[in-house]
Amino acid sequence: MPSQRDVDFKGYALTDPKRWNDLKITDFKPKTFDADDVEIAITHCGVCGSDVHTLTQGWGESKLPLIVGHEIVGTVTRVGDNVKDFKPGDRAGVGAQRGSCMSCRACKDGLENYCPNSIETYNAVYPDGVVAQGGYSTAIRAHEQFVFPIPDEIESRYAASMMCAGLTVFSPLKTHGCGPGKKVGIIGIGGLGHYAILWAKAMEAEVYAFTHDDSKVEDIKKMGADHVVNTGKKEFWKDYALTLDLIVSTRDSFGDKMPLGDFLSMLYVHGRFVTVGVPDADDPLPNLHPFNFVSNGCLMGGSKIGSKQDCLEMLELARSKGIKPWIEEMPMCDVGRALQNVQENKVRYRYVLTQDLA
Ligand SMILES: [Zn+2]
Ligand SMILES: [Zn+2]
Repeated sequence: MPSQRDVDFKGYALTDPKRWNDLKITDFKPKTFDADDVEIAITHCGVCGSDVHTLTQGWGESKLPLIVGHEIVGTVTRVGDNVKDFKPGDRAGVGAQRGSCMSCRACKDGLENYCPNSIETYNAVYPDGVVAQGGYSTAIRAHEQFVFPIPDEIESRYAASMMCAGLTVFSPLKTHGCGPGKKVGIIGIGGLGHYAILWAKAMEAEVYAFTHDDSKVEDIKKMGADHVVNTGKKEFWKDYALTLDLIVSTRDSFGDKMPLGDFLSMLYVHGRFVTVGVPDADDPLPNLHPFNFVSNGCLMGGSKIGSKQDCLEMLELARSKGIKPWIEEMPMCDVGRALQNVQENKVRYRYVLTQDLA
């Protein structure tokens, strides 16, 4: 087990935005260690679409140098005096958030993922002035509230991508009533979408997977989807009018061509369309008309990662049902290739980087 002295903070950092996937090994200063903090020596980190949006500056200018990565699992090396639930040697994870105000209404309601003063896992600035650096690195410090215990039955390589991709789709499925007797549509079967199928089936819903990629159809059936719908087919939505109780959309690009109003027409009365994908800043939602909402009384909204409670429930679901994500592991030094493939939608269905700097 690594001791406190063994933790050296370094990672694969963006230093030149023009070379967005050519990351350089860089030392960094961690946040000041506080009484509520857990320090983790990272063993695994998933590669998320958010990492690509951030590195390519699609969501705005990033800090430099910047280490991304927010699907982190590792071994606890140090805990602050106030920490109750972790001890050195435990396996633990960190997702896309590592701090919040702890005092606003959302925080008090256990909805800390919606805190207006949330501290993102990377590309944020701590109150002590330190830039938060992510998981393509050796180690991380985070407030205990944002550190998740990994059950013994779930291997670290499988737990890693649950920390963002898994949680981001579990939260809206849970919040919006996915369960027995419900018909749930999942749009976009990449890293997030494949988790949405796995969770929704485990929650005993009937699952409709929507993809434009025929080469994924067999995989999607193996993941457990009851219906696979090719969105390339002309007016595919007409066969599913007034059918779905919930749609979770993982698409992170829309463009003018996405028939969003037609997607909404597949919702049953009072059905909900929830987007978890967040496109680049210059890619807003397509135009909608009130007709799109009044004809079936449908509702539309979004969802942002998940709370600690959501995460604990997700991990319990994965543990109790033995759910394993579809991942491909590679050493952290191959991160450039992983990022390129994520950008080009070539990943099946999540990359998990393994530690090679410590
Ligand atoms: Zn993410
Ligand atoms: Zn708050």
